[in-house]
Amino acid sequence: MSALKAELIRLIADEGPIPVSRYMALCLGHPRHGYYMTRDPFGAQGDFTTAPEISQMFGELIALWAANVWQAMGAPAAIRLIELGPGRGTLMADALRVANGLPAFRKALSVHLVETSPALRAAQDRTLAGKTEPVWHDSIATALDGPVLVIANEFLDALPLDQFVMTSQGWRERLVGPDGQGGLGFGLSAMETRLSLAAPAGAVFEQPTVALDIVAALSRHLVQAGGAALFVDYGSAQSGFGDTLQAMQQHAYVDPLAEPGEADLTVHVDFARMAQAALRAGAAVHGPVRQGDFLRALGLAERAQALSAKARPDQAQAVGAAFDRLTEAGETGMGELFKVLALSHPGLPPLPGFDLHRLPEQG
Ligand code: SAH
Repeated sequence: MSALKAELIRLIADEGPIPVSRYMALCLGHPRHGYYMTRDPFGAQGDFTTAPEISQMFGELIALWAANVWQAMGAPAAIRLIELGPGRGTLMADALRVANGLPAFRKALSVHLVETSPALRAAQDRTLAGKTEPVWHDSIATALDGPVLVIANEFLDALPLDQFVMTSQGWRERLVGPDGQGGLGFGLSAMETRLSLAAPAGAVFEQPTVALDIVAALSRHLVQAGGAALFVDYGSAQSGFGDTLQAMQQHAYVDPLAEPGEADLTVHVDFARMAQAALRAGAAVHGPVRQGDFLRALGLAERAQALSAKARPDQAQAVGAAFDRLTEAGETGMGELFKVLALSHPGLPPLPGFDLHRLPEQG
């Protein structure tokens, strides 16, 4: 049994069953046993692979996007480039290489990283050594100051949410408690909730409070101080019911309660609700669009061609494979399952990558 599982079983014996959000927060962020706190989970040897780890083109195109937004803002002399949940720092390193080719843009940038994991901060430090001296933040609140360009790949999916299940007595909160056999199991709270949404029995409603609060705070800042934010993640353009909590270990789905702290725990992002939270705070919303459409609109094919033209045959093949993977269609393909949503100061013009294929909010 994992050390965290033993600790959770004791905690639940003392305090009773816990909300899904607390379970997620402890699994991912427990200071000693949290999944991200102790390890580098990325890549073939790890548990999962992300777009910046698949190809340098991902960070490069995001840098071009950011430079374009900066231009549209009137090229302010100083702007914060903030990344939320930067992982190994790969996206930022690729982005800065492109920014170095745009000296006025690069000169305006100061790099800020919002990261809670000491292990990943160390990895980011190694990746970015000699390229920039980033400022690290525990939360987005201290990172926001003046005009900002915010980028976040697979960040919102790691934020804890609560779940509610429709029963014959109305909505009940889903809790993690004992399974009666020495392990952990899901159960329902006996208490009433104030949710009044209509839904069929058994429906699961997810309440991503932490993510919505971050999007709202960020949006208020964009309205006040200027700038834009780009979120890339798996999820849906439409709100709906369903349990999206998933655990991944060594590139396979596992039971989210089996080995807390040993598997990555994520949820799908409800982009429609993120967009609503931003609009309510007064920000402009762009998208969501599919990742494949977004990257193609930014010139992924041209970039892949340029890289391949000066590469060895095996490298050119790898570039082609990365292009296919980042744009893959189908329900589970990265190009389609992943969506891109941007928020901005309402005075900015349409942003690059969003002028086509806007996904409808209602199914
Ligand atoms: N963007 C990276 C990593 C994605 S994994 C990539 O695409 O490869 C999620 C990242 O968010 C990790 O760096 C993790 O440590 C960080 N993270 C998770 N929860 C966080 C929180 N509440 N605050 C800040 N960072 C968090």
